[in-house]
Amino acid sequence: MSSSEPAPYIVCTDVRKAFGSHEVLKGVSTQFRTGEVTVIIGASGSGKSTLLRAINRLEPHDSGSITIDGVAVGDDAATLQRQRSEVGMVFQQFNLFGHLTVLDNLTLAPRRVRRTPRSQAREQAMALLARVGMQDHAHKYPWQLSGGQQQRVAIARALAMAPKVILFDEPTSALDPEMVQEVLDVMRELAHGGMTMIVVTHEMGFAREVADRVMFFDQGCIAHDAPPAEFFANPGSERIRAFIRRMS
Ligand code: ADP
Ligand code: MG
Repeated sequence: MSSSEPAPYIVCTDVRKAFGSHEVLKGVSTQFRTGEVTVIIGASGSGKSTLLRAINRLEPHDSGSITIDGVAVGDDAATLQRQRSEVGMVFQQFNLFGHLTVLDNLTLAPRRVRRTPRSQAREQAMALLARVGMQDHAHKYPWQLSGGQQQRVAIARALAMAPKVILFDEPTSALDPEMVQEVLDVMRELAHGGMTMIVVTHEMGFAREVADRVMFFDQGCIAHDAPPAEFFANPGSERIRAFIRRMS
């Protein structure tokens, strides 16, 4: 490791998780560095979401360890709240609060968790909405927005907590095709701005252009992990090559 390389921010060591007798993560060891964009690909059911959810403790792992900035992810409530404010999450189904306006979706967590004063939270929220091109929709409710607009709001909401890293779980998979690009554009800008990102996606173009690293999940294991140029030139196995072909 060269001295210019940033320290690993998230470290997973032999992470295991089973649902009943079904082992979904079979000893995952990897690290995610500050400023790095990692794209995770792999077949449905291979454990990609479970890994992201374990990092955020939405799904507790059974054994092994996950640390965020050197602190173990576990059950301590105060630690968990702090870690969750540092690790944002964007879901396939947006998960906006349907009874709140766009603006209130963005200000809720900063006000409750960070105790940010209302006027300041609103000001920050409006700046973030401008960043994702949604400033004209601040007073609408989620149901009044398209899927692409909702997802851009969900990204702005994640940013409202000023996270150190954002986990994206198939952020464009629920979108109509014509809306995929507007969300990828926002993500690309975030990446260029230096945000640390872990992105589960089937968008191979995004992986090629934006990722620092592409990781292939296969049946609960990391089967391949390489910079995109290398990954796509030499996928490591016929199974991965076939997967890439199907997705491209
Ligand atoms: P991926 O995101 O790669 O499609 P997941 O991590 O969602 O895969 O799921 C991996 C496997 O774990 C799947 O077989 C899925 O059905 C199973 N699984 C995920 N969450 C649960 C759960 N809460 N209870 C039982 N099985 C689950
Ligand atoms: Mg998934």
